Amino acid sequence: MVNGQQQTDSSGAGADGKIQEFDAIVIGSGVTGLYALYRLRKLGFSARGIDEASGVGGTWYWNRYPGCRFDSESYSYGYSFSEELLQEWDWKEHFAGQPETERYLNYVADKFDLRKDIQFNTRVKSATYIEKENRWLVEGTDGSKFKGQFLITAVGILSAGYVPDFEGINDFKGTWTHTSRWPKDGMDLKGKRVGVIGTGATAVQLIPMIAPEVAHLTVFQRTANYCAPLRNGPIDEETMKEIKTRYPEIFRICNETAGSFMHEFDPRSAMSVSPEERLDYYEKLWAKPGFGKWLANFKDVMLPGPANEDYAEFVKNKIRERVHDPVVAEMLVPKDHTFGAKRVPCETGYYDTYNRKNVSLIDVRQAPIEKITANGVKTADAEYDLDVIIYATGYDAVTGALLNIDIYGEDGILLRDKFVDGPRTYMGVSSVGYPNLFTVNAASVGNFPRAAEPLMDWVTDCMAYVRDNGYTRIAPTLEAEDAWVKHVNEDGENILRTKTTSWFVGANIPGKARALLTAPDTAPVMRAKRLEVSANGYEGFELI
Ligand code: NAP
Repeated sequence: MVNGQQQTDSSGAGADGKIQEFDAIVIGSGVTGLYALYRLRKLGFSARGIDEASGVGGTWYWNRYPGCRFDSESYSYGYSFSEELLQEWDWKEHFAGQPETERYLNYVADKFDLRKDIQFNTRVKSATYIEKENRWLVEGTDGSKFKGQFLITAVGILSAGYVPDFEGINDFKGTWTHTSRWPKDGMDLKGKRVGVIGTGATAVQLIPMIAPEVAHLTVFQRTANYCAPLRNGPIDEETMKEIKTRYPEIFRICNETAGSFMHEFDPRSAMSVSPEERLDYYEKLWAKPGFGKWLANFKDVMLPGPANEDYAEFVKNKIRERVHDPVVAEMLVPKDHTFGAKRVPCETGYYDTYNRKNVSLIDVRQAPIEKITANGVKTADAEYDLDVIIYATGYDAVTGALLNIDIYGEDGILLRDKFVDGPRTYMGVSSVGYPNLFTVNAASVGNFPRAAEPLMDWVTDCMAYVRDNGYTRIAPTLEAEDAWVKHVNEDGENILRTKTTSWFVGANIPGKARALLTAPDTAPVMRAKRLEVSANGYEGFELI
């Protein structure tokens, strides 16, 4: 349970016990699932999307907390597959908020008539591979049953909300929610004593939005983050017109960069220029919107080493400048990880919020939360009375939503058991013993639609290859899977993300094996690898 109020959108539909048969089943109708349905139809496959929500959007359906928005430039976030769509849609803000993005995805679903292929209000409970039929049987918690030769789990990488198992959590007499299940009709926080647990990208967006309306806001912080100003703004008509002429260039840049964002590193090393020149460059980047502050920085700023440490110091000083109380400022300066090791949140007014009289910051690393009481939160050294608790405590990322489904492969082995020491896949998309299952999450990190489109092109082309060449099933060889897992683990050691505790390595979930959950490669490298595999007749796969 991730919400202390009513659970929404789980009423169920189509639960008449009849098995609905399709070529392909797609679980999830977010950015990836919607595009999968579009592609499948184009390639002549019958397909059924299934979603627990009552509408499309995935992340953009569920995350309705105040301040929710992406940190990618809007025009780099939309789908690129339809020129008509690109020319029709006008983004209103440089970094669109949840309502705008949800509207966009609904527009896409309507324009391409995708809704008729989706069964909403249906939470998938299990998926079982039936070997003698070469079909996946997918069952909903409401009794719905579907069968398909292929199964695509487009369930999202940050969709299984995580609420810590605090003692007494259900004793709380007030209202509580996890940010990813913010009620559709909002939460009344006006004049209330509100506690927010967590200070990741979600909390950083939420906190400044709610602080002005609550009576008192108590923020429980375990780890301070490096946050950078977003510098969002509206897009006027003229600018949008001009952006529409630049789409080919925008997507070209995205396709060439590591995370598919529209920022390119400066080819110089930070340490190759004078300290004055370096600082001047940092300041210029700092004044610009978005992720460019590090992704357009010197090429070595995001690699472990002196350039990274130098920039980390610059950002720490930026934080100190914003917060009036030096004790609070020091609490907000990260001490236990370097810049970029955790995902850097973009902020709008976050640090200034701590200058407000009705906001207090509590260090729960020094005095951990011991329990939730009927009246609020009890830490090792104090009790905080609250009317509302908001858990901004993150996600069981990448594998969480996938493994919440009971996925039984050949010989009835649960994928959850197979992944007990970390994901075991070939290129993040396929796993030995699970024929015709495409576990797409681990392969689609970065600027989401930019990653989802080429990935879904590859997956659906692969399905068409199977069909059109007289095969019926595809799964990786054990050698290919072993080699991929070795590559992820060994080459993962060279990237910043494996140097700290975060969702990227599963370290935020007690008991979850620590392993890099995504590929260690950049987006262009991953795309090239996949295309090389398909060009070589699906090298590393066994086709039957
Ligand atoms: P998160 O980054 O995992 O942050 C969770 C927070 O909860 C952390 O501060 C964590 O502290 C804290 N926490 C967890 N368990 C706790 C416990 N037992 N006691 C005290 N504190 C606890 O989750 P998130 O903020 O939801 O963000 C997840 C990801 O979603 C982001 O990294 C980003 O990729 C994506 N996201 C993107 C946007 C955007 O595009 N702008 C916005 C929101 C989210 P520790 O750090 O100490 O573990």
